[in-house]
Amino acid sequence: MADDKAAGRVVLPPCLEPTKYILKITPDMERFVFDGEMSVELDCREATSEVVVHSKELHIREACVEHDGGVANAVGISYDLKLTTCTIKLDGEVPAGGKAVLNVNYMGYLNNQMAGFYRSNYTAANGERRVMASTQFEALDARRAFPCWDEPARKAVFELTLVVPANLHCFSNMPEAEAALIEEGRLRSVQFLPSPRMSTYLLAFCVGEFDFVQKLTDHGVIVKVYTPPGKSDSGHYALDVACRCLDLYDDFFGLEYPLPKLDMVAIPEFAMGAMENWGLVTYRMVDLLIDPVLASPQQKQRVATVVNHELAHQWFGNLVTMQWWDDLWLNEGFASWTETFANDALFPEWKMWEQFTSSTQGAALRLDSLRSSHPIQVPIKHAEEVEEVFDAISYCKGSSVVRLAHAVLGAEAFQAGLQAYMAEHQYGNTETTDLWRAWEVASGKPIGEIMSSWTQQMGFPLLTATLSGSTVKVTQRWFLSDGSVPEEKKTWVVPLIYATKEGKVANPELMRGEEHSITLPAEFGFLKLNWGQEVPLRVHYDDALLDIMCGAIRAGDVPAGDRAGFLSDCVALAKACIMPPEKLVQVLRAFADERDSTVWETMSAAFSLLSNAMLNEIGGAAGDKYTAFVASFVAPAISDIGWDASESDAHLDKTLRGTLFSLAGKYCASDEALAAEAKRRFQVLLNRDASDAEKAAAVPTELRVSLYKMVMRAAGEADFEAMMGLFAATDDNQAQKEIMQCVGLTPSEALRRRVLDWAISGELKLQDFFYTFAGVTSSGRDGLVQAWAFFKDNFAHIKSMLATASPSLMSAVIVYSTMGASSLEFAQDIESFFEANPLPQNSRRIAQLLENVRSLAKFTDAVRASPLASDAVDFATI
Ligand SMILES: [Zn+2]
Repeated sequence: MADDKAAGRVVLPPCLEPTKYILKITPDMERFVFDGEMSVELDCREATSEVVVHSKELHIREACVEHDGGVANAVGISYDLKLTTCTIKLDGEVPAGGKAVLNVNYMGYLNNQMAGFYRSNYTAANGERRVMASTQFEALDARRAFPCWDEPARKAVFELTLVVPANLHCFSNMPEAEAALIEEGRLRSVQFLPSPRMSTYLLAFCVGEFDFVQKLTDHGVIVKVYTPPGKSDSGHYALDVACRCLDLYDDFFGLEYPLPKLDMVAIPEFAMGAMENWGLVTYRMVDLLIDPVLASPQQKQRVATVVNHELAHQWFGNLVTMQWWDDLWLNEGFASWTETFANDALFPEWKMWEQFTSSTQGAALRLDSLRSSHPIQVPIKHAEEVEEVFDAISYCKGSSVVRLAHAVLGAEAFQAGLQAYMAEHQYGNTETTDLWRAWEVASGKPIGEIMSSWTQQMGFPLLTATLSGSTVKVTQRWFLSDGSVPEEKKTWVVPLIYATKEGKVANPELMRGEEHSITLPAEFGFLKLNWGQEVPLRVHYDDALLDIMCGAIRAGDVPAGDRAGFLSDCVALAKACIMPPEKLVQVLRAFADERDSTVWETMSAAFSLLSNAMLNEIGGAAGDKYTAFVASFVAPAISDIGWDASESDAHLDKTLRGTLFSLAGKYCASDEALAAEAKRRFQVLLNRDASDAEKAAAVPTELRVSLYKMVMRAAGEADFEAMMGLFAATDDNQAQKEIMQCVGLTPSEALRRRVLDWAISGELKLQDFFYTFAGVTSSGRDGLVQAWAFFKDNFAHIKSMLATASPSLMSAVIVYSTMGASSLEFAQDIESFFEANPLPQNSRRIAQLLENVRSLAKFTDAVRASPLASDAVDFATI
């Protein structure tokens, strides 16, 4: 291995450069192995007598290199399991300066770990168990399917042939070139057209039984959605979104989609949400297929979001690719920004940029306020370190800083720079600075200086605003979730975008140092910093400005995105013990008449933060009063919006209904009429004689989870068995997932134990099993303690279940089995456990989890010491 000193990266030697892979793969769908024959065309940069390639779980039978001077045969093949490389020693030298061809004959395993070339189980329409096979190569698993130079900058052309059982479909990135029946008609050999020059992680292929729906875009690309047999109806929604989105991106990026076709396939077992393989995008079932009639607004939004994200990668990531994994954020941050941009363009009524504030930007700020966060641009020395960087920093903070760039540049220069960048670097590789340069040329603004303060530094600023006469002093410092003031001083280049009653400031100034002054107009009315929430930061107002903001919210002067942003900042400040907890309660009272879905999401987060302390730790009369306080928001909103959707309901009204009923399950349990109605509607779902239409009328899809939660929070054996019966009766992955999330909410310890045993029994898909822990931990303190104890007791088993699966699955089960932990003892226990049972691939995630639990513990102490913990507390007047 060459250690590239310049960047400190461990990469394959540069002496041979692959330009074209000619690959033939023959899977055996019964023995779960495959044969591979490969010829790789190479440019020889330096003379060499060995070939070093990436290879994992492959057995190379024979290899040779043909070059201008003859043939060099393999005399030794050795594997480095740690580096996942294979070194082929040759009996002669391959000379520098010419061309050569590496020929390899090998075999590999069709594994069941959702990585490389792997198999999935599914149930056919007639109830039979079947197997299909597909690929997931990003980041480092192309090497599980063929020996290769598995680095994003080693782009090459791929010419693939698949030999599959004649009764199965198969497809790849490119359309079929030719196909023929062989072996007396038992097998079909399908050769695909050569791909464009691309990275190894983007190659993909699938083998199985499918139905499909198809449509031609206005710009002439054929788009297909492949579904399990008999389910093609469920592909229409994603197909329509994809067709509209592809045309939108053609115009936005200024370059037409470069392939002749786009296929999108739902894979029965899938570790991620989706994967952007060029021309063959693979998805989790729930992220692609939805019932065209019954789908909830959240399901539609989710599918559209994932489709728009993956299609953005067809340009950003596939056509122009990061040079190395340390710029992964360029791919993911940009695609996450673009998914919102496209949703906003295609579905303006969804108000996506308002939702972005509470969802994407909120997630970024939560994670990036931890000391165990990392900068967007993170040095990656060994490629496997990248696995842990597929996190909210790359996706959510990444997209938040792209949004910041958009705010500074304006829409026109943003797009012009982007189009120039695409045109210049198509089929090539780039670094972050290439994008800054393109935007600087397009705008004349110091984009590199502004942006690098956000991408190279971990964390983000807390702006503190102090009113004095008509001047506001603004200071900045690094914000940490536990409120501590770090010794290390950092500043960011902050565009000061704000509004008063007179409107948004015209030309926002750039704040570079620690302090800045704003002069307000005489009748300023109110001051909202970070107007539009376009910059990923937090704002702390002094008491005078805070009261003025609460007044402006009551008066209806602040739009929803800014109301959500303001409240979200207050929640973070209270959690950091910078704002006293009773102050957060006062702020919440300004939202008494709130009916906006996005703001309710943030209110829900505020209630949940206080609930960890008030219900899980303090309890008693103060806890009961807290529950009544939350109910005083939820109950009137529910009586306004009602159980049943009306004709005039918009997308977000339906979303709000789901949020409200979900809260009602926890905080309005004493409302007998509500509980009885929930029970009545649940019975309709269970009634075998009720038609699908009657069931959908009683429980619209968007209310299903909320209703399950209401029922399960009071459930005994009968309701529990009924839920398990619903699970057994459906093969719809979304419906199953909803039940997995909720069934553990039961107050019965014995039933919760059954849920946990079920989770790890092997009956549930590996991609989903961790959801069942969520219900158990959310059921209350006892459930949380039980879930964590169960995790520890069964750690060896869980570890073996996930042996070679994506580390993200282990992270998920750890997070779900400790959700809501908010005491120092709990943190200590988690830390000791993982010291004794280390998980290097999850270490960053565990450190982040611990830091969060410790900061919640600090918050709990602050609540305990506040008037909120007193039995005599009055939440309406405090
Ligand atoms: Zn992505």
